[in-house]
Formats: sequence, structure tokens, C-alpha cells
Amino acid sequence: MENNRDCIFCKIIEGKIPCNKVYENKDVLAFLDMSPVNRGHVLIVPKKHSETLLDTDEQVLCKIIKATKKISNGVMKAVNANGINIIVNNFKAAGQIVPHMHMHIVPRFSSDGFTYTEPKKKFSESEMQKVAENIRKAL
Ligand code: AMP
Ligand code: ZN
Repeated sequence: MENNRDCIFCKIIEGKIPCNKVYENKDVLAFLDMSPVNRGHVLIVPKKHSETLLDTDEQVLCKIIKATKKISNGVMKAVNANGINIIVNNFKAAGQIVPHMHMHIVPRFSSDGFTYTEPKKKFSESEMQKVAENIRKAL
């Protein structure tokens, strides 16, 4: 595996730093987040270092998604969750702290009291059409 020697998740993958492993296959490793937002908060990481979802190999992404489905079902069952958030933070501006691609699996409970309080913005219909066109052109 090509790993980044300064990367904390690469060190976990290499066994140089311990983790609470929940699942592993040839391509991915899943372990408990050391600062969970709820009991059973899991991180899934590709074994080959990439920084964000955007630079992760498409075949590896498929493997991550397959593992995410499997582990999400396991987490729901194991902690009796009522729901699950699956989150990827990409780049510092989006809250990414560890620059090794990872999927957060966060079990949710009806009583956990979390709220997502970001204010919703309003754009004119022409601005909406323009941004949709710009995104289509960028693809
Ligand atoms: P993010 O903000 O998406 O980069 O989240 C990084 C996550 O990695 C945080 O929720 C941390 O609690 C978690 N984390 C950092 N170091 C470790 C570690 N050594 N073992 C387990 N989780 C970790
Ligand atoms: Zn890494």
C-alpha cells in the first residue's frame, strides 16, 4: 500500500497507532472514532492514502460505499439506532481535520437532540439557473 508517513490514518492502517477496529478487507479499514458524537460512531478509510473523496480512485470509492452499507446496518443493530448520518468532510473549509479520505457513520437516536442550524439561503430563480448551468459546464 502507498501510504503517507505523516498521516495519522495511514499509521492506524499500518498498525503503528491502535484503533478499535470494527471491519477490514483488502481495500478498507473501519474503526471507532476516538471522539464519537454518539455511541458507535465509525470511520471508514481507504487503505491507500488519498486526501478527500475528490482524489479517491472510483473503484476504491465503490468499495467504501459497499462497506458503508454493510457497517451502517451493523452499527444500527449494535447500538439500536433510530437513524444514521453518513458524512464526508472534504477540505478544511468543510470541516475536514484529518487529510485522509474517511466516511463518518454516525448513529442517530430520536432522543439525541442534535439540530442542524445552518441558515438556509435564498437565491433568485435566475441565479439558481445560472449556477446550475455553471455546474453542468464544469462537469
Ligand atoms: P474530520 O473532521 O472529518 O477530518 O474528522 C476526523 C475524525 O477523526 C474526528 O472525528 C476525530 O475524532 C477522528 N480521529 C482523529 N484521530 C483519530 C484516531 N487516532 N483514532 C480514531 N479517530 C480519530
Ligand atoms: Zn493517509
